Amino acid sequence: MARFEGVIPSLDPIIGGKRVAFEGPQIDVFDPSTGEVIAQITDVGAEGVDQAVASSLEGFKVWRRKTFRERADALSAFAEALVARREELGALEALEVGKPVSAGVAEVFGSADRIKFFAYGARHMSVPNSGNFRDGLTSFARRSPLGVVGCIVPWNYPLALLVWKIGPALAAGNAVVVKPAEETPIVTSLVAEIAQEFLPPGVFNLVMGNGPTVGNALVTHPKVPMISMTGETSTGKIIYANAAPEMKKLHLELGGPSAILVFDDADLDLFEATLPQGTFRNSGQDCHALSRIFAHESIKDRVVEACVRVAEKQTLGGAFDEETVIGPLVSKQQQERVARLVDEAAALPHVTVVTGGKVPDRPGYFYPATVLDGVRHDDPIKQTEIFGPVITVTSFQTEEEVLGWVNEQEHGLSGGVWTRSLDRGLRVAEELEAGTVWVNDHSKTVTEMPFGGWKHSGVGRELSTEAILEHTESKHIAIDTTRR
Ligand code: NAD
Repeated sequence: MARFEGVIPSLDPIIGGKRVAFEGPQIDVFDPSTGEVIAQITDVGAEGVDQAVASSLEGFKVWRRKTFRERADALSAFAEALVARREELGALEALEVGKPVSAGVAEVFGSADRIKFFAYGARHMSVPNSGNFRDGLTSFARRSPLGVVGCIVPWNYPLALLVWKIGPALAAGNAVVVKPAEETPIVTSLVAEIAQEFLPPGVFNLVMGNGPTVGNALVTHPKVPMISMTGETSTGKIIYANAAPEMKKLHLELGGPSAILVFDDADLDLFEATLPQGTFRNSGQDCHALSRIFAHESIKDRVVEACVRVAEKQTLGGAFDEETVIGPLVSKQQQERVARLVDEAAALPHVTVVTGGKVPDRPGYFYPATVLDGVRHDDPIKQTEIFGPVITVTSFQTEEEVLGWVNEQEHGLSGGVWTRSLDRGLRVAEELEAGTVWVNDHSKTVTEMPFGGWKHSGVGRELSTEAILEHTESKHIAIDTTRR
């Protein structure tokens, strides 16, 4: 198996523009392709978070006073610097997540583009009307940055999802304290180091550690007015509760299995062509993966056949192997979780494992592309986010029946509709209770459009100018113009 041949950057926190070493509990970082320990981070605890926040408050004083153009230019230069180091960043992302290097490099391009969008998007934030709405009083509204935003990032797209958080926060004039997932601190560490060249000290601080210690210290810190977090719904609920005493602004991008509705008039060739990216990208560790399929009973078997054909082409391999189509899952814990969900479903008498379903006998956290047929809409696996390369197929009879099933779900991140009928496509897209609905496509996020969850899938929106506005507070300034 081919190995990582680059250099792992320092994983010490960055506070006030410099690396700062801390003492504290050590957390191992693993290579999911081999299962070996490749690095360690130090949990900085509440004391480290306190130092980072104090430094970010200083950075904020400088950053907020820059003009929008100065901030946009600095962020744009930072984005270009990421592109210049794409091979290194892409390889580090491949190393720590287990995804193929090409996917890591592609993530760098997409992330740089998004930073530039946020940077220049902040220059035309929309505000309500200004004018004389009361006698002698001139009113206008402006948006102000909040201060220090705590950014808590998951492991599945450490670079892309970091950028979804820091992009709008920094563009709007805030400072950030970033905490990467404990599984994937490496890319974040290099990105934070690169950023220091373009941003005043303290504007982008980096802390390391566990969620319940370092993450929670950010969530409860009285000088951090906003938390932007992506992760599991259960973690989001803990953060929601813990942030309440300080009345924080929250931006939570949480989990949610997407409901994919395939109607009897769907273009199944197009559907099949969408599966490699829609379902198996990142080994299925994608919050909007095309994995929870509901197919009309008349075409259900053809849908299963299409899924199996694609699943059987997903060659498993290490992140640095040329022939790899899908890499391992990120951790042993994730591998065990996916295997348990599949095993429990396979034990149900009505469920058939058509392909996959067995942990391979090799080092690393691999799980094969798997297709389960005959799953019922209320089976536990259909109600849970699997976060692995696993498709479940359930048949339905009518549009009303399937919409009733899927809208009962507590999650509402995204959904998909497959039909040749424009009427049905629009009608079902409107009916689905979800933040994004794709019609005859899947998984493509659009920088200019909002992304986020309904119901238990989150609070707030990422991407688009909505995200920038969410990182500000509005202020009405009213001026008495009657005095002479
Ligand atoms: P996770 O909830 O375990 O961890 C996410 C982050 O929260 C990590 O940095 C973790 O250290 C931190 N954290 C954990 N406990 C905390 C606490 N008590 N206080 C503060 N911070 C805490 O999620 P994960 O396993 O890293 O990521 C996978 C999940 O992320 C999936 O559920 C997936 O759907 C979701 N996700 C959602 C989106 C989206 O846009 N909606 C995108 C990607 C992933």
